[in-house]
Amino acid sequence: MRSSYPIRLSALCSLVLLGCLGHAVFAGSTDTEINHTNFINATECPRIVSREEWGARERISFEVLPVTPTPYVVIHHGGIRNYCRDEEACSVIVRSYQNLHMDDRGWWDIGYNFLIGEDGNAYEGRGWDYTGAHSPGYNTQSIGICILGDFSDFLPNADALKTLNELIARGVALGKIKKDYNVIGHRQARDTECPGETFYKYVVNLPGWTANPVPRISQAITTTDPTDQENSAVDVERNSSLNIISRAEWGARAPKSGIDNLKIKPAPFVIIHHSATAGCETQAVCQLRVRAFQNHHMDVKGWLDIGYNFVVGEDGNIYEGRGWGKAGAHSINYNSKSIGICIIGNFTNRTPNAAAIQAVTNLISDGVESSEINNEYKLLGHRQVSATACPGNKLYEMIKSWPNWSSQSN
Ligand SMILES: [Zn+2]
Ligand SMILES: [Zn+2]
Repeated sequence: MRSSYPIRLSALCSLVLLGCLGHAVFAGSTDTEINHTNFINATECPRIVSREEWGARERISFEVLPVTPTPYVVIHHGGIRNYCRDEEACSVIVRSYQNLHMDDRGWWDIGYNFLIGEDGNAYEGRGWDYTGAHSPGYNTQSIGICILGDFSDFLPNADALKTLNELIARGVALGKIKKDYNVIGHRQARDTECPGETFYKYVVNLPGWTANPVPRISQAITTTDPTDQENSAVDVERNSSLNIISRAEWGARAPKSGIDNLKIKPAPFVIIHHSATAGCETQAVCQLRVRAFQNHHMDVKGWLDIGYNFVVGEDGNIYEGRGWGKAGAHSINYNSKSIGICIIGNFTNRTPNAAAIQAVTNLISDGVESSEINNEYKLLGHRQVSATACPGNKLYEMIKSWPNWSSQSN
């Protein structure tokens, strides 16, 4: 089921694409989802309600998307329990979102590129050509699509989901979205529930969904300002190479004695931890935390050195702990056959930011490439191998969608 679902949707999308371009007839199709009026009258697929039609206010300013066709599609829900099944009611909701974004958040316009109602219509937000304000790190390289309503507990209706697939296919057909686009849910870009727990489970099965998105990080993202960043022009291409801060750089103490090598190499397990402490978003503060972990591990717990192989901060840096090839002190019974990675922060009620997730992803790929980690490694949360809440409920839920996560700890 899990593997066939995206394939079926892929097929649906390409059929939709042909349908929109008027090159195909769908008589006799066995796919029930194709039984829809849009396919009989395939000139407009889906219907896009223009800004004028839904009564948009004039935007204050705009920026043309600097990256086009966009490599990403970011999926949102409105997060407000207000639903609509006809154009009039949906237009009222879209206008309320625009007011919220412009008046309360101070943005130039409604944040999304498109919105979709359960009336099956798509509503033009910023449209295909303009940078959105919906996902820091992705605004300049994505089309942001929001389904009106809150989908934490149930899915959007079939009409809305169908329009979502059609709209993406249309973006590809128009050359606005890359053919090999990646889909992500908003929660993969920042600490948010969006697009809702139930809807997110649908999103991860969409064709093109990726567990490893690469943000274009702007300075603004590393501030504590919780608002989405309008000023996306300052986004800079993120360096995907590793930012490893060596022990000497963060001011590590020497280990008490020589650290054993891993008994099994390349390591068959990667174990994810959180520090269950305050987080950090600058190198200066992260280094303080890493030194504190080392002191605690050596002086209070009596270990030889900091317990983890690597520590990752929400500054996007990787702090060298025991490093590659060394046995850690982080997960009893797994210390001699795993690489232990700790993300600084408490992830019981929130997920790490995009910079930290990207750093962990880069670190693991680098480990696999350099044969420090087995290419068929299993990724586990600490709680799967010890009685602990680590790495926190939210981070644990998140890593279940990461490549190589395994429900089996042996
Ligand atoms: Zn969102
Ligand atoms: Zn742990």
